[in-house]
Amino acid sequence: MFDLKKLVRPNILKLQPYSSARDEFKGNEGVFLDANENPFGTLNRYPDSYQKKLKEKLSEYNGINAEHLFIGNGSDEIIDLIYRVFCNPEKDKALTFTPTFGMYQVAADINDVELLKLPLNDDFQINQNDLKPYLKDEKLKLIFICSPNNPTGNCFNKKDIEFILEHFEGIVIIDEAYADFSGKASWNTLLSKYPNLIVTQTFSKALGLAAARIGIGFASTEIIQLLNNVKLPYNISVLNENAAIEALENNLTLKANIKTILEEKEQLIQELKKLKIIKKIYPSDANFLLVEVADANELYTKLVDQKVITRNRNSLVKNSIRITVGKPDENEKLIKALTDLTGFENL
Ligand code: PMP
Repeated sequence: MFDLKKLVRPNILKLQPYSSARDEFKGNEGVFLDANENPFGTLNRYPDSYQKKLKEKLSEYNGINAEHLFIGNGSDEIIDLIYRVFCNPEKDKALTFTPTFGMYQVAADINDVELLKLPLNDDFQINQNDLKPYLKDEKLKLIFICSPNNPTGNCFNKKDIEFILEHFEGIVIIDEAYADFSGKASWNTLLSKYPNLIVTQTFSKALGLAAARIGIGFASTEIIQLLNNVKLPYNISVLNENAAIEALENNLTLKANIKTILEEKEQLIQELKKLKIIKKIYPSDANFLLVEVADANELYTKLVDQKVITRNRNSLVKNSIRITVGKPDENEKLIKALTDLTGFENL
């Protein structure tokens, strides 16, 4: 039986969270002499600790009730907060499937938590048999699933994710940073079915606001409460919250940009297929392509020489380069740079 209280660190369970002046008085009208702010200026007031306006907009956008939403300083903040809420340093463990997004490891290291890494199979899918022996370990608190996965680009099979949600009594985090490019339904509609589920998304990719640092967490109200208790009081600036609201209001531009990126991705695949230097293009549900080449270190450097910056993922997937889909002229520059390297096919 899933028991949230058993999973939470005892010090977090009994934490008396910081209560800000604005938590006590909830109205908008009045003379505000409560927060030692400067009465002059335009950015002189503290922002809303709980980003109510943004959550209302997001709730309209996603159809998920605002009480199931958490806003983080990028989804990176949410990943760190999840470790801080659930994992006792030096004692508890988390698990993920590799190769995957590097922040699960960095946040584990910062929080002094062991991260178990199970290799994905040759199709970059989860191997259920490898996972089964770990599921009953009481010290295992978190399983991170990145789908679509970074850097491989693919979504994981639904049945494997369902298996984990149904058989693991710890917290399952599904990182959907790239989900808007996948055309697949979000797991965030299944919160009532799976009380152990946290879905994370971000404004940094399809919503085009990487500079604004806005991540979204979807979870049960109990988990949202724990994240709220642990986060810094004013974790989202008013500038960033407004930028996120504006992006959602420009819904049509967002959708048009996603469509363009997906069309460009298809075009890029066709162009890359013509080049001998590209040995393999892995299937992608994201806004990037992982490609195999003869020598990724060498090719990466040669592209940098031409001022085309890709991501060398050789250390994660042998001789692979990750290419983000850019604007049409940027993608053309990449193809031109690769074409100019004709003769280096075996590099
Ligand atoms: N998850 C994945 C899979 C990512 O690739 C990234 C960023 N590269 C993040 C989360 C972090 O995103 P944010 O900008 O919201 O912190």
